[in-house]
Amino acid sequence: MKNEVYNPYQNFTQTIDNAARVLGLDESDYIATKHCERELKVSFPVKMDDGSVQVFEGFRVQHSSSRGPCKGGIRYHQDVNQDEVKALAAWMTFKCAVAGIPYGGAKGGIKVDPSKLSRPELERLTRRYTAMIAPLIGPDMDIPAPDVNTNGEVMGWIMDTYSMLKGHCVPGVVTGKPLDIGGSLGRMEATGRGVMIATREALKKAGVPMKGARIAVQGKGNVGSYAAKLLHELGASIVAVSDSGGAIYNPDGLDFDRVFAYISDRRNRLKDFDGAGVSHISNEDLLELDVEVLIPSALENQITEENAAKIKAKFVVEGANGPTTVAADAILEKNGVIVVPDILANAGGVIVSYFEWVQNIQSLMWDEGNVNDHLNQILCNAFEAVYAFHVEHGVSLRLSAYAVALQKLVKAKKIRGIFP
Ligand code: GLU
Repeated sequence: MKNEVYNPYQNFTQTIDNAARVLGLDESDYIATKHCERELKVSFPVKMDDGSVQVFEGFRVQHSSSRGPCKGGIRYHQDVNQDEVKALAAWMTFKCAVAGIPYGGAKGGIKVDPSKLSRPELERLTRRYTAMIAPLIGPDMDIPAPDVNTNGEVMGWIMDTYSMLKGHCVPGVVTGKPLDIGGSLGRMEATGRGVMIATREALKKAGVPMKGARIAVQGKGNVGSYAAKLLHELGASIVAVSDSGGAIYNPDGLDFDRVFAYISDRRNRLKDFDGAGVSHISNEDLLELDVEVLIPSALENQITEENAAKIKAKFVVEGANGPTTVAADAILEKNGVIVVPDILANAGGVIVSYFEWVQNIQSLMWDEGNVNDHLNQILCNAFEAVYAFHVEHGVSLRLSAYAVALQKLVKAKKIRGIFP
């Protein structure tokens, strides 16, 4: 319905119902997966640099622990709200299930625009939030990680705060940490690397050559920047990249080495980037470019009922979580656009988070080749399983990914039974 208020959690439950229908499940088989196990909302004061006190609102939601401890990132964004965090937590459950890693799903967030805070304010905010959610997290319970606007430095503060509260060092409480305190080689690039792998496999199945494939990437954060870099290394032509202030575009391909060096300094804005043949376009225009592959890797709700019919890309590979609404998804499918869904395409991050957690628990370190090889193997296996379902049942890759994951969840729930 037009102008319907966007609710990502409703998007999630609708997709689950559709996947359950394909599997012929009875509602009682999967009804629990439509609800979050635990939802914590916190409000807490932070002392600002000017001596004033501000109160912030945060969340930690655990969607499911059926297949293992809960796992998922923490985001800092002014639009964070409980329904968004619930949807993000649920998507993590399905992402971990489709990848076949032994986790359930969780997510956290603080309603804050971190660009308005100084570094010391950000640290105090992070430490106090960690203390507020500390009863819920832990290496066997719920393991946070980076997400939108959080990074290794923030994970380091979380690890330190949690360890101080416990009285001993607990590296496995969080992943995406800096290398010096138990982070994993390859974790920083992992989500982008996964997006590259998903794109590569999708093009391969369709017989579309990677060499010269025109790719537009929405978002120059951790996901978009590395996905573009790795696809460029495979011979693709990166024609457009954006940040929240707009996009740069060159139909003949951007000088991506130069662009990557520029965006590697996170403070640089693309509106200030100049280059031969480069024009400046809006984020909306980027989504509608004539390209082989579109990679939305910013926020949810980007491809909607309003613009879905205008998408010219042959493939949409979802680097972000939830960039396409359910209504838009139906339009893309009708128009023959192949959508590689978020829970498969961006699973690289949590897969390498899993490796980091395993290394922390075992107190050993893998070399980078080992990390990347294992990531490639796990993601290719997941892609093949989803693709096989798609071929067998004739449903979209999204529905196939959800169905594959839902089967695993339902099975785990059945084996464990219902307590008491
Ligand atoms: N925030 C990332 C995601 O949405 C990574 C989560 C993790 O590593 O736990 O998949």
